[in-house]
This record gives sequence, structure tokens and C-alpha cells, in this order.
Amino acid sequence: MSGLLVGKHVLVMGVANQRSIAWATARAVLAQGGRLSLTYQSNRIKPRLERLLADCEAEVTLIECDVASDDGVARAMRKLEKERAVLHGLVHSIAYAPAEDLQGSFVETTRDGFAVANDISSYSLIAAAREARRLMVQGGSIVTMTYAGSHRVIPNYNVMGPAKASLEASVRYLAADLGPAEIRVNAVSAGPIHTVAARSIKDFAGMLELLQTHTPLRRNVTAEEVADATVFLLSDLSRAITGEIVHVDAGAHAVT
Ligand code: NAD
Repeated sequence: MSGLLVGKHVLVMGVANQRSIAWATARAVLAQGGRLSLTYQSNRIKPRLERLLADCEAEVTLIECDVASDDGVARAMRKLEKERAVLHGLVHSIAYAPAEDLQGSFVETTRDGFAVANDISSYSLIAAAREARRLMVQGGSIVTMTYAGSHRVIPNYNVMGPAKASLEASVRYLAADLGPAEIRVNAVSAGPIHTVAARSIKDFAGMLELLQTHTPLRRNVTAEEVADATVFLLSDLSRAITGEIVHVDAGAHAVT
């Protein structure tokens, strides 16, 4: 199926490198005929993005956006606004927790670690949605990335578990708030994928190995599969779906 996003402008937040779920999503947006804008966390990442986009024929807007402050998020959206950009889609693919809080006992989680993980991984969705809705004058679709650690204890996922639980609750509250403006808000709950963010979780490789034999599909998932489901949620095919958590995990949620 092609052309699902023709006429739609999608902002993807959270490309760090070629392994990022956000990068697979960006490519899928372009493949479906969408117009793409990207935000990146810091200028350190920008040259990498430019290299990734070197072969891309479409014009892609690149904007720096550190979601650690409301100002950073507002500034990025103002830059899009200056281009008189109407936005139809927003993909929030951002998470962070201090490395020391992703190993050892959950009970040792620090106050600072908890605050940072929730701020960057969860609150940032609210901040981004608040700013993006001004540009979504024709309605829109917001998609964030979550993980099963939100509702099940996953070894070493630790502080990210409560952060993802809060993120998923925010999806429902935002869906209720923004629905009257025809803005839908959903999450994709992805199975584990080898990315920079995932590498900070202790024994991540062991998790991938276990799922290889335990999921109904007897395999793990790819960033491209997560991106395809995200495109569905961005497209009009999902026009009656909001407040939903869609599992792209080879069926793991059904059996664990
Ligand atoms: P990734 O490391 O490629 O992406 C994480 C992104 O968050 C990076 O681009 C990083 O720059 C960005 N980020 C962190 N702090 C930021 C800040 N202050 N301001 C702006 N950006 C910031 O890893 P990924 O696996 O592609 O992660 C994307 C999303 O997918 C995350 O929400 C993650 O929790 C979720 N997810 C990942 C997996 C997995 O196994 N990889 C599974 C389920 C859900």
C-alpha cells in the first residue's frame, strides 16, 4: 500500500541514528508520500542526520529541540510555524533515564532519576502536544512509543516502567482533551529493538534472545514494523482510533 500520507506534514521527534525507531518512521513517512520535518536533541546529532538524509530527494526541515524545557519545545514549534506549516502528524519517539537507574534494584531509584525519566520520557509528550495542536488546524494524529514495562515488571527496565505507565495515561487524557479538535492521540507498544536507548538497559541481549522463542510469532520485531504501524496511526485508515495502545511486539503481550 502506498500514498497513505500524501498531503500530510509529519513532524518526527527523536532520531539519534540509523537504528532509531524515529528514523525508520521518518523513512516510512517519506515512502508514503508525506512531507517530513525532524527534530533532533542537540547539534551533536545534526551532522549525523544530514548524512542520513544525503540521498533523500524530498526537502526535510531539521529543527533542534531539547524537550527538557518548555521553551525548547515551544521554540521548535515556532520555527515550524514561521514556515506557515500546517501539521497533520506528530511522532514522539523520545525517552531517557540515567544509566544508573536502569540496573540494580528498583527500590534504589533516586528522586532525581525518577524526575528526569518522567520529565523527558513522559511529560515531553504533553509539552509537544500542547505546542503542536496550534499547527494542527486541520486535525491531526499524535503517536508516541511505549513499552510493556509500563504494566509488567521487566528486569532492569526499572524507572522507565513508571515513566511509560505515565506516558500511556497521558495518551488517554490527551486523546480526551484533543479529540474535539479532531486530533487523535495513540501509542505504539513496541517489542524490544536494538537501539541506543535500549543498549542502556542491562542484559538487553538476553531479553531479545528469550522473546525469540516465546512470542507467538517466534521472533522479535524490527523498527520498520513499528514504523509501519505508526504510519497506519498517522493515516486516515485509523481515523476512528484514539486513546489506544497498539502492540507491535510479535504477540508478546498476549502470552506474557
Ligand atoms: P533512540 O536512542 O534511537 O531514540 C531515543 C531518542 O530520544 C534519541 O533520539 C534521543 O536524542 C532522544 N532524547 C533523549 N533525551 C532527549 C531530550 N532531552 N530532548 C530531545 N530528545 C531527547 O532509541 P529508540 O529505541 O528508537 O527509542 C525511541 C522510543 O521508542 C523511546 O520512547 C523508547 O522508550 C521507545 N521504545 C523503544 C523500544 C526498544 O526496544 N528500542 C521498545 C519500546 C519502546
